[in-house]
Amino acid sequence: MENKFYNRFTKIIRSCNYDNTYKMAWAKSIVELCSTKELNEDNIVITLHDITFKFLKYYWNQTIFFDLVQGSNLKKPPVILSLTKNLIEKYFITIGKKQPEVFEKVEDRFSNIGLKADYEKTINNIERTLKFDVSWRFDNIEDNSPKLYQYTKGDNSLIIKKCNAQILKNNEQDLYDLINYRWSLILETFNSSPRINKKVRIIDERNIKRNSLSKFKTYLDIENPNHHCFICGKETQNTELSIDHVIPWSYMYSDDIWNLVYVCQHCNSIKSNVIPTKEQIDKLKERNNKLLSILENKGISNKEVDELKLSIEKDYVNKFWTGCKG
Ligand SMILES: [Zn+2]
Repeated sequence: MENKFYNRFTKIIRSCNYDNTYKMAWAKSIVELCSTKELNEDNIVITLHDITFKFLKYYWNQTIFFDLVQGSNLKKPPVILSLTKNLIEKYFITIGKKQPEVFEKVEDRFSNIGLKADYEKTINNIERTLKFDVSWRFDNIEDNSPKLYQYTKGDNSLIIKKCNAQILKNNEQDLYDLINYRWSLILETFNSSPRINKKVRIIDERNIKRNSLSKFKTYLDIENPNHHCFICGKETQNTELSIDHVIPWSYMYSDDIWNLVYVCQHCNSIKSNVIPTKEQIDKLKERNNKLLSILENKGISNKEVDELKLSIEKDYVNKFWTGCKG
């Protein structure tokens, strides 16, 4: 599209440096806010306060589900990410379990669960960081085209012309694709986990569904008919039995037979997202070898068996374990 505003906006996204992901969150916030507003006035006002909630939403969702690193300096993470992580920690402590939930479903509940003050403090701190450290940088490039919007460092809001806001609104999906793609590229430089692009994209959908794992029961039963818990070894009743990922789901974002085992309710409730030990990894490899040989002896041949075989040949267990240990 030949349009100076659009070209400048997308140029900034494309040429952004790889230090952190603030500019992507900024661009996405502006697109999302323009797309959800009625564009009636000649000048559209977007407040930093509104942008703050979008930042918190993006970082909350990417962190609580996938714990993605958002900056190149591992010793000094981006301030807004640290603020978000603190709030997530408090949320987990308050609800008494490490159960991820999307921000859209939690934001109205902070008051009810006694986190109103923490939530407001987080919002204020993010807004201050945006104001002095993030806001004025985005539109600050060497290019002869006119600025995207009116904004001076320290202002509480930016003013964007109606026609330009309309361009963002009309191209919402294309811009999300571009922003998410660049966001993923930046994340790939300091995250070793697989499926980064998929993780970033799924955040736009309100329901991050975890698939049912019951289809793997048949295979697990073949190798472990008495349902011994993978962690404590205890023989476990059906009602207390669940299927779990040894290398955390948050890291893999995938359900693979080579990574799934039976665990008892007790072990499952305390385990969530913990990186497995060397012993557990060795045990999983042994389990996979045994499972494959049973399946082959029975003459079973299908997609799951092929995947199990491939995982052993390529040593996925070790590979992803090494990656997730960081
Ligand atoms: Zn157990």
